[in-house]
Amino acid sequence: MAEGKFGTSVTCMDGRIQLPLAKWIKENYSVDFVDTITEPGVDKKVAENNDLDSIKAKVGISINAHKSGLIVVSGHHDCAGNPVSEEEHISHIKKCVDVITSWNLGVKVVGAWVDDTWNVRTV
Ligand SMILES: [Zn+2]
Repeated sequence: MAEGKFGTSVTCMDGRIQLPLAKWIKENYSVDFVDTITEPGVDKKVAENNDLDSIKAKVGISINAHKSGLIVVSGHHDCAGNPVSEEEHISHIKKCVDVITSWNLGVKVVGAWVDDTWNVRTV
């Protein structure tokens, strides 16, 4: 049985954003641990709603085994996997929230943007 409260981060693999995101999620959503599911340019992949079985299975483990009640899906500045403008990232992230919400997992789904100073905000 997991001790403590878990959240789930669906995020790019970029090493610059993991710590800022985990810190932000812990501080803003009162979780103790952040399960992290990564893919390059994941905001584009989820927004396109294409080939998401692997991500969905991993999210399921986090929710079922760790009782996570929160999914944060994010995009970030200077993303090699999804090299588009901030406006396009924001649009992708909003779509990601819709896609993950449509999975009806019974958890809170939040979109987040990591900017050029590695600050995180909801979108
Ligand atoms: Zn990236």
